[in-house]
Amino acid sequence: MESSTGAATACPSCGYQRKATDRAPDWQCPRCGIAYAKYAAAPAASQAARQQQYEQAQKKSQSERRTRAIRLRGLLMFVGGGIVYVYLFLYTQRVGGIDKVENANNGGLFAGLLFSVPGVIAMIGLFELASGAPIDTAMEWWDGLRGWQRGLYGIAAIIAVFFLIMVGVVIVG
Ligand SMILES: [Zn+2]
Repeated sequence: MESSTGAATACPSCGYQRKATDRAPDWQCPRCGIAYAKYAAAPAASQAARQQQYEQAQKKSQSERRTRAIRLRGLLMFVGGGIVYVYLFLYTQRVGGIDKVENANNGGLFAGLLFSVPGVIAMIGLFELASGAPIDTAMEWWDGLRGWQRGLYGIAAIIAVFFLIMVGVVIVG
């Protein structure tokens, strides 16, 4: 036996079992001629790279799938909430405006709140559809704000809602 890579060495490429009588250098396969070390090192390296590539692609497609699922949910909420909202709006128009509905139900605030639920769902859906981020993210953002920041956004929201109500009154009334 000439060295540690002598008789017992099997070629990683062709599987040839090296014999003591083989004349080829002990780093080389006598049958197919490849260098043992080169063959062993190269696939291992490329395999690690391939594994990394695979994991990155997997992660990317996972987050893309998640974003798509959120957008789809947003779309469903937007369409579903929007249809109910429009239906309610048309219904109140037919019976003579939201005032009539509120008077008939004898519970104006309750009717108003009920009326706004599908609208809120549609708005959340629109947010998720547009951003691809779940509404929880917006909630976390809200939780992370300082008191005075919330105050400012709150005032802005109240002004926006007031403005929308005025527009609604002008259109409906
Ligand atoms: Zn070989």
